[in-house]
Amino acid sequence: MLLLFLHVLSHALVGALTLSFTVAVVGKKELTWKEKCILMFFGGVAGIFPDLLGNRTFSYWTHAIVFSPIIALPIGLLVRFVLTHVTFIVAWMCNSLAVIFGHLLYDSVGHGAPLIYPFSKEQISLHYLELGDPWFLTLLCIMALSFLLSSHRIWIYKVAAIVAILFLSFKGVSKYWVEQQVEAAFALTEPYNITVYPPDEYLMTVTNPLDWAQWSFDIFSEQRYLRGYASLIGTNVDTHVNQLFEEKGEIVEHKGRYHIQLAGNVEECTVVEENVEEREITCHQPGESKAKEYELIGDSWVVKDKN
Ligand SMILES: [Zn+2]
Repeated sequence: MLLLFLHVLSHALVGALTLSFTVAVVGKKELTWKEKCILMFFGGVAGIFPDLLGNRTFSYWTHAIVFSPIIALPIGLLVRFVLTHVTFIVAWMCNSLAVIFGHLLYDSVGHGAPLIYPFSKEQISLHYLELGDPWFLTLLCIMALSFLLSSHRIWIYKVAAIVAILFLSFKGVSKYWVEQQVEAAFALTEPYNITVYPPDEYLMTVTNPLDWAQWSFDIFSEQRYLRGYASLIGTNVDTHVNQLFEEKGEIVEHKGRYHIQLAGNVEECTVVEENVEEREITCHQPGESKAKEYELIGDSWVVKDKN
């Protein structure tokens, strides 16, 4: 629930900042305190509006860039009505940008959105950020307060935009680096799939900001399934799921998420020790007192021959 609140709040803040920035730049006029509050309010509404119209995983049009001007139209009309010095075209265009940046593109930095619908239904996503990330949210709050309290609005926006871009670039580089570290930390057989994504809600304390400063990862290969955490700089690669299957399964993808399809009664065990260089694994099967040793022969994990 808290995460949902943070998620919605962050959409509203990006929308609010986009609308107030674009109107301030186009209008070239010092905004009053009241006008700033009105723009922040309507920009916030634009930032959450697509979710009020429908879910991105089936009402694709609500999260498509080409439909944004239509979605923004009613809010544009309201802004024009309340702020009479803003022309209708400016109010409409700036609100369209608030929908695009505050919701669609921001969704794409996180869990994804079908941005190019009706050309494709693909949920386009960078998986850089869990939307509602308290670190990014703090940044947004500082930007919003700076806008409301300062008269040097353009200068504030430039600094804020640079900080936001640096933050997201750092996340991108960190994610790429962690993918390399995770790949090197385990003995894997081809084909395999590694996904690194922002920390999953159910695996962390939402209220602990340090939990957010790490990555989650999933690894699927034909005989192994791993889930775990790694820090932002790729150290402390740690698993909480580490399974080995006696027989090969098939790696299957559905809507950008992977899983492994196994034949009916394939035995599985929990990896307790792993030697990446020697390609050896010690594995513990539920209900059995002794751990089994496995080695890699060709591209298959087989029980080690003791002789
Ligand atoms: Zn959405």
